[in-house]
Amino acid sequence: MDYKELANLIFPNVKDASYYEEKYPERKLKEGAMVVRFAPSPTGFVHIGGIFTSVICSKVAKQTDGVFMLRIEDTDQKREVENGVNGIIDALKKFDLETDEGMTDEDTSKGAYGPYKQSQRKEIYQAFAKKLIEEKKAYPCFCKQEELDSMREKQEKAKLRPGYYGAWAACRNLGLDEIEKRIKNGEEYIIRFKSQGDPERKIKHHDVIKGNIEFPENDQDIVIIKSDGLPTYHFAHVVDDYLMRTTHVIRGDEWLSSLPVHIQLFQALEVRPPKYAHIAPIMKEEDGAKRKLSKRKDPEAAVEFYSKEGIPADAAKEYLLNIANSNFEQWRRQNKTASIDEFELQLNKMSVSGALFDMVKLEDISKSVISRYSKEKVYDMAYTWAEEYDNDLKELLQKDKEYSLKVLGIERGNEKPRKDIEKWSKLKDNIEYMYDDRFLSEEINYEYQKINDKEEIKNIIQDYMDNKLNLSDDKQTWFNKIKDVAEKFGYAREVKEYKQNPESYKGHVGDVSTVIRIALTGRANTPDMYEIMHVLGKESIEKRLNKAIK
Ligand code: GLU
Repeated sequence: MDYKELANLIFPNVKDASYYEEKYPERKLKEGAMVVRFAPSPTGFVHIGGIFTSVICSKVAKQTDGVFMLRIEDTDQKREVENGVNGIIDALKKFDLETDEGMTDEDTSKGAYGPYKQSQRKEIYQAFAKKLIEEKKAYPCFCKQEELDSMREKQEKAKLRPGYYGAWAACRNLGLDEIEKRIKNGEEYIIRFKSQGDPERKIKHHDVIKGNIEFPENDQDIVIIKSDGLPTYHFAHVVDDYLMRTTHVIRGDEWLSSLPVHIQLFQALEVRPPKYAHIAPIMKEEDGAKRKLSKRKDPEAAVEFYSKEGIPADAAKEYLLNIANSNFEQWRRQNKTASIDEFELQLNKMSVSGALFDMVKLEDISKSVISRYSKEKVYDMAYTWAEEYDNDLKELLQKDKEYSLKVLGIERGNEKPRKDIEKWSKLKDNIEYMYDDRFLSEEINYEYQKINDKEEIKNIIQDYMDNKLNLSDDKQTWFNKIKDVAEKFGYAREVKEYKQNPESYKGHVGDVSTVIRIALTGRANTPDMYEIMHVLGKESIEKRLNKAIK
C-alpha cells in the first residue's frame, strides 16, 4: 500500500481538493477590495466583542467594495445550542450590520462560496485532509486518551514541553502496513498534521494591527480531523478562508498564538495565507486593574443589554468606531451631521492593547446621536422600544401622538439640538412631566434652589401669571417680562449686573426664572422654557403655576 491508497482507505468517497478549488475560484473584485468574515460559534451568547468585530468587518468591506460574510463555526458540537445561529443573525440585524454572504437563517444562506456553516462542509475539509495524507503531511493517530494522559504526565515529570511532537508523537512514524491493519481492524483514529516545524527557528509575521511579530515555529502534530469526522478550528479556518477567498482575517487576539500553526497549514496546502488583523478585546476597569469585558460580570458584554436599555444601534456602533479608531472623535467634530458610513476606518490605526469600555462615553455619544434624529424618528424608535419593554411609556406616547411629537420636537432640528436623551429606557423620565394628566395629579416635590422663601416664591409666580404670561410674545419680549418680575422683587435684570454689585440685589434673573421653571415642571433642568410653555399652552401653564402656589 502507498500513501495514495492510504488516503483512499481513510476517505474513500470524497472529491479531489482541486474540485473545490475550481468550484470556488478567485473572486473578481476590484483591486484592494477586502473579503472579510465574522465567524462566531453558535454558543447562544453574542458578546459585544462580536459586534465590534462585525462593525469593523462590515466597514472595511463597504469601504473597499469588498465582501462581508457570516460563517458559522459549529464544529465543536458539544458547545452548540439550539437556535444559536438565529441568535447571531438577529444580533447583527439589531445593529443594522448587513452581510453580503453567509448564513441568513438556521439553515439557509446566500452567496456562491458556501455552505457557510462548517458542519455542512465536512467533505470539503476531508478532501483537503486526504490531500495532505497523500502527500505525507498528515497521518492517522490511534492514541487513546489514557495514552495521551500518561504521555503528558511523563512530560511534566521530566519538565518537558507538553504535547504531541517529535519523539513523543507515537503514531507519526507508523508503517503503512500497520496503519492499514489497524484501520481495517476497526480501531478508532483521528488525523494529525505532520509538523515540519522547529521551535528553534522563528517565523516572522506582519499583523495589520499588531505590526511585526516573531514566533517560534510550531512542532506540534495538531489534530486536523477529529474522530467525529469534523475538523478542528485550526484546520477549518485554513480551508475555509482559503476557499472563501478571504483577504483579511479580522478576529480576536486570543487567536494570535495560533498563528504559527495556521501559517504552517497554509504552507502545507501550498496556498498563500490571508492577511491577519488581530483585534484587542474590549476591556473593563475594576479596582484599578484592566480585565476583559466579561460575559458573567458585565451586563454590557451581552448584545441584549443594548436592546433592553434602548440604546440605538447607531449610537452603539458609533461608540464602537470611537474605540476602534482614535481619530474618529476628531472626524465627528468636523463632520457633526455626517453618517458614520462616511468615516474611513483604518485597521492599522486600531489600538494594540484593548480599549476600556466607558459607559459614560457611550451614553454621551448616544445623546448626540439621538439629538440628530427628527422628532418623528425619536417617536417611532421609542415607541417600538416601549412596545417590547415599557407599556407605560407606550401608553404615554400613544395617547395623544400629536402632543407627544410636540414634546419630542422641543429644541430639535436646529443648530444646537437638545441632548438630554441617552436611551429609550430613560425617555419617560425625560418627558413625563410634560403630560398634564400625570403632572397635575402627582405629588410634586418642588426643590426650589436659591430662592426658597415660600412667600417670595408665591409672589413671584403669582405676579408672573397675572401680569406677564402671554404666549404671543416673541422670545425676547417673553424674557424681558421675566426680567421685569426680577426687577420688581429686587433681583438684577442681568447676571452681569449682579456679579458687579452683589450687595445691591437679592439675586438675579436666573434665580427668578428657575422658580418659574420649577413651578412649571417640577425640575430645575429642562430644555428651553419658552418652547416648553408653547407646547404646554396657557391653560396648562396656569394650572401648573396654581398647583405650585398651593
Ligand atoms: N469561531 C472563532 C471564534 O468564535 C472564530 C475566530 C476567527 O474569526 O477565526 O472565536
